Amino acid sequence: MPKDRFGREINYLRISVVDHCNLRCVYCMPLRGLTFIPSPELLTAEEIELTARAAVNLGFRKFRLTGGEPTLRPDIVSIVGRLSAIPGVEDLAMTSNGILLPRLAQPLADAGLKRLNIHLDTLNPERLKKLMRFGTLEEIEAGIRAAEAARLLPIKINCVVTRDYNETDVVDMARRARERGWHVRFIELMPLGGGEAAHIALSQYVPSRETRERIEAELGPLEPIPGGDPADEARNYRFQGSTSGEVVGFISPVSEPYCGSCNRMRLTADGKFHLCLLNDDELDVKAALRSGGGMAAVEAILARAVAAKPTGHRLEEGVSTEVRSMFQIGG
Ligand code: SAM
Repeated sequence: MPKDRFGREINYLRISVVDHCNLRCVYCMPLRGLTFIPSPELLTAEEIELTARAAVNLGFRKFRLTGGEPTLRPDIVSIVGRLSAIPGVEDLAMTSNGILLPRLAQPLADAGLKRLNIHLDTLNPERLKKLMRFGTLEEIEAGIRAAEAARLLPIKINCVVTRDYNETDVVDMARRARERGWHVRFIELMPLGGGEAAHIALSQYVPSRETRERIEAELGPLEPIPGGDPADEARNYRFQGSTSGEVVGFISPVSEPYCGSCNRMRLTADGKFHLCLLNDDELDVKAALRSGGGMAAVEAILARAVAAKPTGHRLEEGVSTEVRSMFQIGG
């Protein structure tokens, strides 16, 4: 297992496959002024597979596909098939906004995808329109149903909490989790990229503690779920006495950083190992892939990337990414 210089075992690679998205969440992607990675600069399916094989050789076992919106990539089913066929890939998941899942969930499951995280910030159609801008609740709910039908379980719902947009809707979301046995994770806003979206992330930030208090005030006490993966970034709870299997998680990178148990490396869609979500440090791997360096070169660059991983983020000092926004890294 690759260990970084702080003794953390880094065994989880999040692979962004594209920076386009069919939504424009206010805290993630502005409506105007966007530039996207030109197609020839995106890693190809073959290059992604080779990089994943190199990662497995170094001891990586968990993989997640993300974006932008990963389902916008025309060859996404083939990418999933290539990665799931690599011996040593123990977990292959995807983060998606769900919009294209009605036609893709089953082909993705057939290709070997195991689990999905679906991004849904509110169950209120009008507020969803303001927050996620291009999508509708109906479309995302259809995506969730398709993922359930394809047994991509457990489905985790990613709900980013944004003041003046959805901070009171967390109660309905938690209630729905209890009714349906959903795993919902309430996520604190992080400022990335320094632009308009980062400004919203800073000014509309809601601490997890407030979200939890709001849910408990309406729906009753939450109790911690014992056990669980120590590298899970969420603190997970269930409602006292509930038997429906819901998980109410809180991901609190700002108020309770979990950098000490970080096990992640990220690969951007244009072929850079991104060392820490909230930091601009990167190591290029595409040049090695395109100059015929092959597996050995990729392994060497990834080993260097692991060794160079920062201790943790420095949001409290006002430091975050300036070059990349969330949609250019993948979360
Ligand atoms: N398009 C997919 C989606 O919507 O889930 C995958 C990419 S998106 C960048 C990955 C996740 O990042 C989203 O599910 C959302 O929860 C989260 N996210 C985006 N911007 C964020 C921000 N500024 N702070 C916290 N989480 C954010």
